[in-house]
Amino acid sequence: MRILLFLSLWLTLILYIPGGESVLPLVINTWAFQSATETAWKVLEQGGSSLDAVEKGCAQCEIDQCDGSVGYGGSPDEMGETTLDAMIMDGNTMNVGAVADLRRIKNAIGVARAVLDYSKHTFLVGESASLFAESMGFLHEDLTTVKSRSIYLNWLNQNCQPNYWRNVVPDASKSCGPYKPVKGFKEWKNLHTENKVNLHSHDTIGMIAVDEAGNVATGTSTNGATHKIPGRVGDSPIAGAGSYADSTTGGAAATGNGDLMMRFLPSYQAVEYMRLGMEPSKACEKTISRIQKHFPAFFGAVICANNSGSYGAACSKAPGFTQFHFTVLKKGISRPQNEVVNCI
Ligand code: ASP
Repeated sequence: MRILLFLSLWLTLILYIPGGESVLPLVINTWAFQSATETAWKVLEQGGSSLDAVEKGCAQCEIDQCDGSVGYGGSPDEMGETTLDAMIMDGNTMNVGAVADLRRIKNAIGVARAVLDYSKHTFLVGESASLFAESMGFLHEDLTTVKSRSIYLNWLNQNCQPNYWRNVVPDASKSCGPYKPVKGFKEWKNLHTENKVNLHSHDTIGMIAVDEAGNVATGTSTNGATHKIPGRVGDSPIAGAGSYADSTTGGAAATGNGDLMMRFLPSYQAVEYMRLGMEPSKACEKTISRIQKHFPAFFGAVICANNSGSYGAACSKAPGFTQFHFTVLKKGISRPQNEVVNCI
């Protein structure tokens, strides 16, 4: 009896880490994209690596078109085309594969994984990334759908509003292009404001998987920003911005206004805060508030997890965005759990 008591006390002690939940394995991803969480979890359950879990989890979102913001048929650019950004990072080897402005290939994170597995490069972009994908056996397909076509046509009918131009003629807040630069403009327009185009046209799956042994992998996949200027690449495929993994510490992933967020490498920053001993929630919060010093009401969120399974998230309060939803599946619960954090 005494031995049993001692054993259970000992088990409780090693499984408890102050300041957060600590049960591995763990899958955590941005937004309420539960089927992605479940898919990643199944990979871990079947003994797959955290890298495989992240790849398959994010790929599930590409198949499901998670709320239209991941995969084909979403976020048409100014020419009506859907282009994809994705990355995957192995926190053991610090290997990264990434693609951006990928055209006519649905499985962007699969291509990112192929960059990681079959090349010595880190990041391929545009038409050349598509050619690489085809040579690796990925199917060449049209990413346009009836829905993305109608989003695009409505936008054209509304004089191309909203859009991402400033300081151009004709006035981009009233007319479609082609635009020319305003020479000698006095001040930047729309510098620090989130507008409708930012708040309602972004979302990304960002995922962290930590297996039972504490191996960390992260990844992202997105179709970026709706009505983006062709060629625009967001934060999601950039290592340290979209996501970052280091198995000696943990992982982080970001979502939101990538044009701003990529300037601060928030995922790298959050992992570094955790390396300094900060709890994941605190690391996420500190990362968000660093960006807020420059862009007080930017739209964005970060998820963080350390290699022992504690996790957290934080978001920046912007007009119309006060809470951030993320999804968690960990040892001891059978279904993905939707969690919410109030923005700061
Ligand atoms: N960060 C992505 C981008 O700017 C979109 C998002 O996560 O909302 O492309």
